[in-house]
Amino acid sequence: MYYLVGISLLFATLYAVNLAASLLTTFVWRYLSDAAVDWNASTRSNLIFLFRVLPLTIAIIVTFGFIVPAFVLYEPATPEETIGLKMAAIVCISAFGLAAAVYRIVASWWQTRQLIGDWMLTSKPVEIEGVSMPAYKLRHPFPVIAVVGIFRPRIFVAEQVFSELDKPELIAALSHEAGHISAFDNLKRVAMRVCRDLLVFPLGKSLDNGWLLAAESAADEYAAVRGGSGYALDLASALVKIGRITPLEQTQRLPIAAYLIEPDDTSLAQRVEGLLSFAG
Ligand SMILES: [Zn+2]
Repeated sequence: MYYLVGISLLFATLYAVNLAASLLTTFVWRYLSDAAVDWNASTRSNLIFLFRVLPLTIAIIVTFGFIVPAFVLYEPATPEETIGLKMAAIVCISAFGLAAAVYRIVASWWQTRQLIGDWMLTSKPVEIEGVSMPAYKLRHPFPVIAVVGIFRPRIFVAEQVFSELDKPELIAALSHEAGHISAFDNLKRVAMRVCRDLLVFPLGKSLDNGWLLAAESAADEYAAVRGGSGYALDLASALVKIGRITPLEQTQRLPIAAYLIEPDDTSLAQRVEGLLSFAG
């Protein structure tokens, strides 16, 4: 009984704090997002990432830093009160929510692993000038340029991308990918997904979408700042070319990765415009 009361308290605090803080960050972002359009993309993506992971972080600190020690110190080992219906309901709902979240996290990890395994079967190693990480030439209907993995990143480039882009465009596109690596975007993607799944409630979609757009623009900015106006123009033209050969209907599932163009990227025109302003 002692442990059951403790666990229900732990779950209840974790969920309540996470939910309250998530409501707060979503609300604050709604007000900030208009002003954030004028910020540079990396500041915007960093702030959104913070807003997405802060609620769970605060919830964990409050629960394990304050509630658990307080419970251990002050709650008698043989409490007089019996566990109420409300408490039992909290435990059931929380345990179910947690199990569902863990299932979703493991399933998406497993799926990405399988999809990358499939990619490896239809690709062969390739040397790309200026790229030090392992690179693979991939046969795929989607014009993939993507970095997969967090600690040992690998880059995959689809065959049609090699034939479509000229050398400066390819270099600029790879520089965009280097931007994703230097910002640890794949790690952030996983962290945000875990936070979203653990929240159980479908809250913070505007943050997820905002982050995706900001992270793409930030990687564009990285390339433009590194390579100057030449890179910005080459990257803009690479985006247009790849956008043109992207199939309208994307039926195949793609693994979680940092792409040049996300499968459902709707911000292509905006990104090209951003790059042109860099070049101008
Ligand atoms: Zn990208």
